[in-house]
Amino acid sequence: MTIENLIRPTIKALKPYSSARDEFQGMTSNMVFLDANENPFENGVNRYPDPHQTNLKDVLSKIKKVSSQNILLGNGSDEILDLIIRMFCEPHIDNAIILPPTYGMYEVLANLNAVETIKIPLTKETYQTQVNSILKAANTNSKLLFLCSPNNPTGNSFSTTDVEQLLNEFKGIVVLDEAYIDFSKQKSWLQRLDEFPNLIITQTLSKAYGMAGIRLGVCYASKKIISVLNTIKPPYNINELTQNKAIEKLHQENLVKNQIAKILIERDLVMNQLKTINFVSKIYPSDANFILIKVDDANKRYQQLINKNIVIRNRTTQLNCENCLRITIGTHEENIQLIKTLKELQTL
Ligand SMILES: *Cc1c(COP(=O)(O)O)cnc(C)c1O
Repeated sequence: MTIENLIRPTIKALKPYSSARDEFQGMTSNMVFLDANENPFENGVNRYPDPHQTNLKDVLSKIKKVSSQNILLGNGSDEILDLIIRMFCEPHIDNAIILPPTYGMYEVLANLNAVETIKIPLTKETYQTQVNSILKAANTNSKLLFLCSPNNPTGNSFSTTDVEQLLNEFKGIVVLDEAYIDFSKQKSWLQRLDEFPNLIITQTLSKAYGMAGIRLGVCYASKKIISVLNTIKPPYNINELTQNKAIEKLHQENLVKNQIAKILIERDLVMNQLKTINFVSKIYPSDANFILIKVDDANKRYQQLINKNIVIRNRTTQLNCENCLRITIGTHEENIQLIKTLKELQTL
């Protein structure tokens, strides 16, 4: 398999837009910029942002020990996933394999791009990948396989040997969504990027890093894949405020580590307390900052919690998630309030 053969002909032939900031680089302090039709009066954001996000990528590169040439940034992971689909999947011809129950955006973005999805369910109850069924279902038009590990909404990570077998034997691109990797006992696949030319890893600053509001997704892949994604991304997709805020936050590594540690302690606390609730029939193991539980009547319990001002996610309509609720781990106070409320609901 060569990556080149997987790329859409349309994309290979594309001549990217060349922005003002692409055509002139070499900023020095006394330059006069009359090239981008900007308003010249300084206010902190009157200039277009760096289309290559050089400073931000430098910081990420050091923290993650990956070259900047292996990094692409997106307006959230969702923009990255969309770009990946558009890079590899020809509308009405190619398909992407998804493994429900999983993150809903894979299917939405595939549909949006007129790309068919082939669905191979995760195993019931344990929510692991069915490697043989996936490989058997794949055809020559199966360009992408979306793996979410730890998986949303189930919370578990996939077996390392299964992921490795899929990376070795699936004849397309494996997109590994590691949105929750910082909460996981398992290691990120990032340090093994060089071993698998067909591996694309996506991460995000929305969860562990506590910056859902700035919309920053991170994509790691081979230099070849990243260079093509760079040609198809909107030139100024990461705004100036986001770039600055992300750099600031990435420098507070200890703060983030402490918050993750606290969330994991809280996750154990919530787990233990959930075991005492009589209408909770199953608590699924979690490698993320949320817990999936099975209850007697998900719709009823969901509404009861809303009536008590607590909003969780009702996942009962997802495949093999009948009567399942997904609960995000909050602050200690929020978790105590949740447990207290659940205890009160036991008699209702
Ligand atoms: C939350 C989440 C993301 C993050 O998406 P952003 O657009 O970066 O906020 C990505 N994948 C999964 C599975 C998620 O649950």
